[in-house]
Amino acid sequence: MSRIIDGKEVSSYIKEQIRKKTEKLKNKGLTPGLAVVLVGNDSASKVYVRNKKAACELCGFYSASYELPEETTQAQLLELIAALNADNRIHGILVQMPLPAHIDADAVVKAILPEKDVDAFNPENVGRIMLGNHSFLPCTPAGVMELLKYYGISVSGRECVVIGRSNIVGKPMAMLLLHDNATVTICHSKTADLASVTRRADVLISAVGKKAFVTTDMVKEGAVVIDVGINRGEDGKLCGDVDFESVSKKASYITPVPGGVGPMTIAMLMQNTLTAAELSKRS
Ligand code: NAP
Repeated sequence: MSRIIDGKEVSSYIKEQIRKKTEKLKNKGLTPGLAVVLVGNDSASKVYVRNKKAACELCGFYSASYELPEETTQAQLLELIAALNADNRIHGILVQMPLPAHIDADAVVKAILPEKDVDAFNPENVGRIMLGNHSFLPCTPAGVMELLKYYGISVSGRECVVIGRSNIVGKPMAMLLLHDNATVTICHSKTADLASVTRRADVLISAVGKKAFVTTDMVKEGAVVIDVGINRGEDGKLCGDVDFESVSKKASYITPVPGGVGPMTIAMLMQNTLTAAELSKRS
């Protein structure tokens, strides 16, 4: 039976550390500020935005939120970003994705100043992650690395397999593992004989977005299994990519969904905002 990796516990710990550091910064006259921008009525996005605002409050940040109607034009959104770029109360700008189809998400991401890009999606920050001289790490992969660190799981010299190659999860996840000296394989929908690759993994990370996708036959005995997926079962309940019931009997450590990687993403967003505020003081 595996040990459950408790993302709620780790994220609470990290947010508490951030709150303490923020208190000290505030005493020196600097309050970290995060702007969260939501365009449209996506209900899941609204929940994410609400959670981000609550985390800002908990950490003692200044937060500003902008809930714009679905018909907002790209020009209007870019105008708001320009104003937030120039606002020195704001150290981080997060535009909640997905954006409505008539807005070019790449143009929006590029418009955010790299030093305020706390999602780390701007091409400059993506490139810096590749080079290993980053200020911010993308929140979800960084959250996974923090979970591993908290539980004392080293990836150095070990076989790590990432399923999924998206720009926001799979690719940066692989890069962070590589920076920590793992031997990394990235799998995707064209990978031949996926199970034979995943069975090699000492650490298996799934970011696919399909319920019960990772089954026991795909997992090596004693592997660490990290489930990034967020899906809904037929019963409407949240679940990950991993068939938790069976895989948890074979893995040494496993993240549940909910309560695993999810809470870490917001904690790392808070970490990036604090870093952005600290860096603004130095510039
Ligand atoms: P995405 O852009 O849809 O990428 C999914 C990846 O899975 C793609 O690279 C795809 O391969 C691969 N894939 C699909 N079917 C496959 C198959 N049969 N075999 C092997 N690989 C397959 O999704 P994403 O944005 O990375 O997100 C992945 C999951 O993580 C989603 O459930 C999302 O909701 C969740 N997520 C969670 C958090 C969090 O905070 N916990 C944050 C972000 C995302 P191809 O590239 O070949 O199509």
